[in-house]
Amino acid sequence: MKKDKNHRFGTRAVHGGVEPDPSTGAIMTPIYQTSTYAQNAPGEHKGFEYSRTQNPTRIALEKSIATLEGGEYGIAFSSGMAAISSVIQLLKAGDHVVCSDDVYGGTFRLFDKIYKNFGLEFSFVDTSNPENIKKGLTEKTVMIWLETPTNPTLKVTDLKEASAIAKKHKALMVVDNTFMSPYFQRPLELGADIVLHSTTKYIAGHSDIIGGAIVANDSDLAEKLYFIQNAAGAVPGPMDCFLTLRGIKTLHLRMERHEHNARKIFEYLKKQPAAKKIYYPGDPDHPGHEIQKKQSSGFGSIVSFDIGTLENARRFMSELEVFTIAESLGSVESLIEHPAIMTHASVPPENRAKLGITDGFIRISVGVEDIDDLLDDLGRGLGAIK
Ligand SMILES: *Cc1c(COP(=O)(O)O)cnc(C)c1O
Repeated sequence: MKKDKNHRFGTRAVHGGVEPDPSTGAIMTPIYQTSTYAQNAPGEHKGFEYSRTQNPTRIALEKSIATLEGGEYGIAFSSGMAAISSVIQLLKAGDHVVCSDDVYGGTFRLFDKIYKNFGLEFSFVDTSNPENIKKGLTEKTVMIWLETPTNPTLKVTDLKEASAIAKKHKALMVVDNTFMSPYFQRPLELGADIVLHSTTKYIAGHSDIIGGAIVANDSDLAEKLYFIQNAAGAVPGPMDCFLTLRGIKTLHLRMERHEHNARKIFEYLKKQPAAKKIYYPGDPDHPGHEIQKKQSSGFGSIVSFDIGTLENARRFMSELEVFTIAESLGSVESLIEHPAIMTHASVPPENRAKLGITDGFIRISVGVEDIDDLLDDLGRGLGAIK
């Protein structure tokens, strides 16, 4: 761990948390597909008792993700939602959370449809203006929940400013960093207390697992989260941990290519009159562009745009050959989706309208394919609506 910290990102991605297996020297952490561990005598064991509590493959993944975020403690979960739910389990009835109004649809649903029933309160505000965070605070606010850039309208929140507000109010600041990956943005360095991921997306990166992770620096906070991980039990299986570790080894390479392709696609869409409004934080005209440049080293690979009508969206998407119509994002293959019908169907229509998620709104997750094939594909789609 100590040694990893001195290394640069790409080296940490390849080596972080991973030691040759002590029993054989295997260079890849084995998939410890076991539920329990033999003890020499009652209570006399090698540090492993039961796989919900400890598993060597999971521990390697937890260390790896922690080093990528520049944090001390990594805690892995069976999904991004399980990680999110586990963070909320730090709270008690009566506590209040100020949350970005454009969070991942599943996060909104979990807070609004489940945790509200347990006496927790949530205010959803546009955190891209820090004044709204301040206005949202009550004496019961114990947590500020941020996603930046948001999904799918890519609103940017100033993490340093938000952290100053959180610290003054003695509230924990949580950042869902899924969209940027630690390659482009490390919220702990900007004042966050907890950073979390759906590792399903860029971190694993190959559309082959569902997973989540939390990283924190404070040992008391981490201890509580490890307790919740074990007590509530939303742990990932060793096979999924192995695949996630394997994905991480190329995270830096993939992110560079994702970014390159997304920029080219933005430049292409900008010249297309049919793409009426484009959402991409790398756009110099994007309202969050300057903050994004200050707090991140890249703009990611999500580009959204408005193509006018549902009919246009349907025609456009039906012509595509390389882009696959699917939920999810952050993987090697390019995906395209219609938030109003697909990922954000659980967001009430009036909230969708407020956020600009119209019936002509399309989100793409740009993969790492050959850019010219992606551009040809978009051209085919646009041809169908002219
Ligand atoms: C996908 C996603 C989640 C949920 O993660 P799962 O792994 O699908 O449970 C949470 N936040 C963001 C930003 C996501 O993109």
